[in-house]
Amino acid sequence: MSLYDFSRRMVLEFIARCRQHVFVRKMNRREWFFPRIIYIETTNVCNSQCIMCPRKKMTREKGVMPWAIFKKIIDDCRSFPYKRLRLFFHLMGEPIFDPLLFQRIDYAARNLPEAKICFNTNASLLTPKISKMILESPLSEIIFSVDSTQSTTYEQIRQGLSYKTTVDNLNNFFELKKRQPRRLKAIMQMVVSSRNRREIKQYKTLWKEKADQVSIKPMNAFLDAGLSERTSILTKRQVGFCLQPFYYLVVYWNGDIGLCHWDYDNIASIGNIQDESLYTNYNNQKAMARRMAMCRMDCGNCVPCNRCSQIYGYDRTVAWLFIK
Ligand code: SF4
Ligand code: SF4
Repeated sequence: MSLYDFSRRMVLEFIARCRQHVFVRKMNRREWFFPRIIYIETTNVCNSQCIMCPRKKMTREKGVMPWAIFKKIIDDCRSFPYKRLRLFFHLMGEPIFDPLLFQRIDYAARNLPEAKICFNTNASLLTPKISKMILESPLSEIIFSVDSTQSTTYEQIRQGLSYKTTVDNLNNFFELKKRQPRRLKAIMQMVVSSRNRREIKQYKTLWKEKADQVSIKPMNAFLDAGLSERTSILTKRQVGFCLQPFYYLVVYWNGDIGLCHWDYDNIASIGNIQDESLYTNYNNQKAMARRMAMCRMDCGNCVPCNRCSQIYGYDRTVAWLFIK
């Protein structure tokens, strides 16, 4: 282990201990947990097969979230004690495939006016009409995932997509955005791997004037999907602490609920929103048992945490680099 990894591990362990203390106290007092970040899988249909996406291994059925399920999520969030939620309208799919996308954005914005509504897209379907609809919608933030400045590399990474189409779509979007008075935050995001590492500087130069932010992000490991290039070796002992079960909530397109946005197959399902409220599901026995195991640093019996390089390895994703 390098000195950098060792120091980083020490700092993370110290933060983890402090967090654990807070959470254990909260659990002992039987206080309720509420998510801060909700991933709503509006659809898990996609037109790409990106090399860093665990979607290839996903065995779940594909579909689009029914309106009734979506409405229940938003209605349930209205009873939360704080309103500054962050809602992501994507998980394992391309949100622009969702025919109800703009209806959902409107409904969420009307009913949760303080929430931040965001989604991540590969921009391949960003026609001038869609761009205009996005810019006129109450969306707070959009993240464009484009990982290269060269067509060959891009098309090797984002398999099935065309670099020219994506870049043309984005240039048109940013032109329209310049003429829009409303301020929608547009982020260009690059997931770094050995294929595109040398392009970071070029990427920044290409997009920094057009986008509001350029984000450079390491590849996620996504449990044992083996997608990270950092390390796939798992440690025997749990060496990390993960905050996702304490802050995150995932609602899959069919209403199933999970606590981790890496859990692409919903292995650790805690319930379904059609049976109980979001709030009751989030605080049920399964969810609390997972939090307790995390606090005890003993996730050996928690699938899939027990095979996750985030806590049984050093594949942490904290090192995001924001430029601009
Ligand atoms: S576009 Fe997004 S959801 Fe689709 S394969 Fe790529 S990373 Fe996965
Ligand atoms: S440890 Fe891994 S599987 Fe468990 S909640 Fe965190 S990211 Fe998800």
